[in-house]
Amino acid sequence: MKTFHAEEQKRHDPKMFLSSGAPQPNPEKPERIERLLSGARAAGSEIIRPRDHGLKPISAIHTPEYLDFLQNIFLRWQRIEGASEEVIPNIHPLVRSGRYPASAVGQAGYHMADTACPISADTWGSACWSAWSAVEATEAVLAGERSAYALCRPPGHHAFADVAGGFCFFNNSAIAAQHLLGSSKRVAILDVDLHHGNGTQGIFYRRNDVLTVSIHADPVRFYPFFWGHADERGDGEGLGYNLNLPLPRQTADAGFLEALSAALRRIQSFAPDALVVALGLDAYEGDPFGGLSVSTQGFSRIAEEIAALGLPTVIVQEGGYLCDALGDNLTAFLTGYAST
Ligand SMILES: [Zn+2]
Repeated sequence: MKTFHAEEQKRHDPKMFLSSGAPQPNPEKPERIERLLSGARAAGSEIIRPRDHGLKPISAIHTPEYLDFLQNIFLRWQRIEGASEEVIPNIHPLVRSGRYPASAVGQAGYHMADTACPISADTWGSACWSAWSAVEATEAVLAGERSAYALCRPPGHHAFADVAGGFCFFNNSAIAAQHLLGSSKRVAILDVDLHHGNGTQGIFYRRNDVLTVSIHADPVRFYPFFWGHADERGDGEGLGYNLNLPLPRQTADAGFLEALSAALRRIQSFAPDALVVALGLDAYEGDPFGGLSVSTQGFSRIAEEIAALGLPTVIVQEGGYLCDALGDNLTAFLTGYAST
């Protein structure tokens, strides 16, 4: 399986975020890329640089207002006297149907869900290349590859059409799914990240051409709190096309694989032409977020089960934070997928 990745994705280097109100070093570090690249190489994957695909595939998911904000907010922020070095919001609209703010501070609150995605001079470029890695992997699958892996970083599944959040700016998995729809009628997204894929759910919530399925730690006491519950099933035409499978904290391989069976049954009944896997590796038992307890071998089993669907598959990197096994967990997933 080929890996798609551009070195510009490393430049975005957020310094901090607030965790339970306390400033902490931001865990979405460029070093994740080194670990994941060595994990991909250990699985025998060739690393390929994506082309610049421009804004078209990104704007198929994200609004013009949001793209303009992300591209220009860093420079605008620098003009505010006494402002922080990185763009971090401090006020949010309770209801987003009101007037669109003209000020940089107002727009930061409008377009950023939390403090986890600080914007620096390099954020826009890294986010674009991350999205283009997903696009290029999608094109490889459209050209006939059975599967392709996009080493997307920054990650994407917490980003809505016009809101960044949870370390995410562009929703790479949604961009891949929309790009697949160019030649597919129905696409499924299976999100196995520790956290609920709230942005992906939000983007496709009223649609029935993209099935969204997410397995994650129960948000009742876990990020992203407001989404990811089992009773969120979609709306309007999309009713029944969103499936959330929240798991109790510290669920290990057996419990995860049981939820995965339910997810795969739903995907089979939807009968998609292609699949996007939003591959978070933070469900790992040794991940610093400590939410679930999947083992390295568990990722291999998860991949085998997904591969058995026999669908053309774009694998998009989401979370998974610095720990000794980060690279090994990717190797386990990619080798498990290829062995089936
Ligand atoms: Zn995550």
